[in-house]
Amino acid sequence: MIQRIDAVDVAGKRVLTRVDFNVPQDNTGAITDDTRIRESLPTIESITSRGGVAILMSHLGRPKGARVGKYSLQPIAEHLQTLLPQQRVRFAHDCIGADVEAVCAEAQSGEIVLLENLRFHAEEESNDAAFSAQLARLGDVYCNDAFGTAHRAHASTAGVAEHIGTVCAGMLLDKELAYLGSALANPKRPLVSVMGGSKISGKIDVITALMDSCDTILIGGGMMFTFLAAQGHSVGSSLVEHEKLDVAREILRVAAERNVDLMLPTDTVAASAFSNDAPSQIVDATAIPDGWMGLDIGPVTTSTYAGTIRTAGTVVWNGPMGVFEFPAFAAGTKAIAEAMAQATTHGTVTIVGGGDSAAAISQFGLASHVTHVSTGGGASLEFLEGKKLPGVVALDR
Ligand code: AMP
Repeated sequence: MIQRIDAVDVAGKRVLTRVDFNVPQDNTGAITDDTRIRESLPTIESITSRGGVAILMSHLGRPKGARVGKYSLQPIAEHLQTLLPQQRVRFAHDCIGADVEAVCAEAQSGEIVLLENLRFHAEEESNDAAFSAQLARLGDVYCNDAFGTAHRAHASTAGVAEHIGTVCAGMLLDKELAYLGSALANPKRPLVSVMGGSKISGKIDVITALMDSCDTILIGGGMMFTFLAAQGHSVGSSLVEHEKLDVAREILRVAAERNVDLMLPTDTVAASAFSNDAPSQIVDATAIPDGWMGLDIGPVTTSTYAGTIRTAGTVVWNGPMGVFEFPAFAAGTKAIAEAMAQATTHGTVTIVGGGDSAAAISQFGLASHVTHVSTGGGASLEFLEGKKLPGVVALDR
């Protein structure tokens, strides 16, 4: 059983909380999107409003075990202070050691301490036992609210929990598990999964796992061409993973055997080069002329997929339908995002996996129009694959 932070008595306790403050910054260090910080506020407030001390820890960027100035969390502490003007936010210049312990001991009920970047120590990612024990000295309770790193067994997501008696999930992590978990375990049917992205290779396990629970799987993105090529169609110079043709054939065979309606595009927007400005034409997805590459799903496919989404009970979307970074090839992905938003208004449960599909739905301004946008790309994929996430296992007592 995993208890949630709001069920734990935190009065007078120091709650060591793993958050995901790995926010994007521009080259001056200014935060360009503080969504991840704001999403951790319910957990922080649950601790501070009930008289606890929130000791926050996170990674930022990839400093690879060294102290790198541009990856310091100090500016994040300053930003957090502006979001929570009523509460004192202290910053500790490291994440372990006597000085840090002193800062944490000094903090009063209702205050917040943000520790320096965990990844300034290589022991964080190696899940070092001694480092985990040092982190654990900072808290009476351990809380994990960082879904985006829950699929990694790091000191702050896994090792530390072994040294603290009371462990729990933060509000955001709990929400992720509730939405992603119920989407598969107890879905409102039909359950439709929309799969896209560049390659089939990163998604084989998730497609295979989804065939256990989905009624329909809609395929788009670069991966569609490996399926089409596996069926013997001409795909021009579209992205094809030749070493995965057998895997694609096997997925198609299993889908047919299990009565899963695995749909492939019937038309595609093909370009003569991988560029936004390249000449383009709409062609039959099974007969792409030589020298042309499919960079988006075509209008007929888009309308079929949108119709399937609008009549679904639950939709789980992972991966763009085309090269949405190029406006000329973003229409398919945008239409899927719009169909998800429309379906939501009619009661469909709509879930967007993290990573590129989350970036796409926010680019189109529709993130708040779906049921749930996951904050973890890799973590949501592994969860949907049915894998146990180390950061979640560590909370289960
Ligand atoms: P992934 O990281 O595997 O989810 O893939 C996301 C990337 O797939 C995005 O950057 C898209 O530009 C890319 N992508 C989507 N459709 C295509 C396509 N038809 N050809 C090449 N790349 C694509």
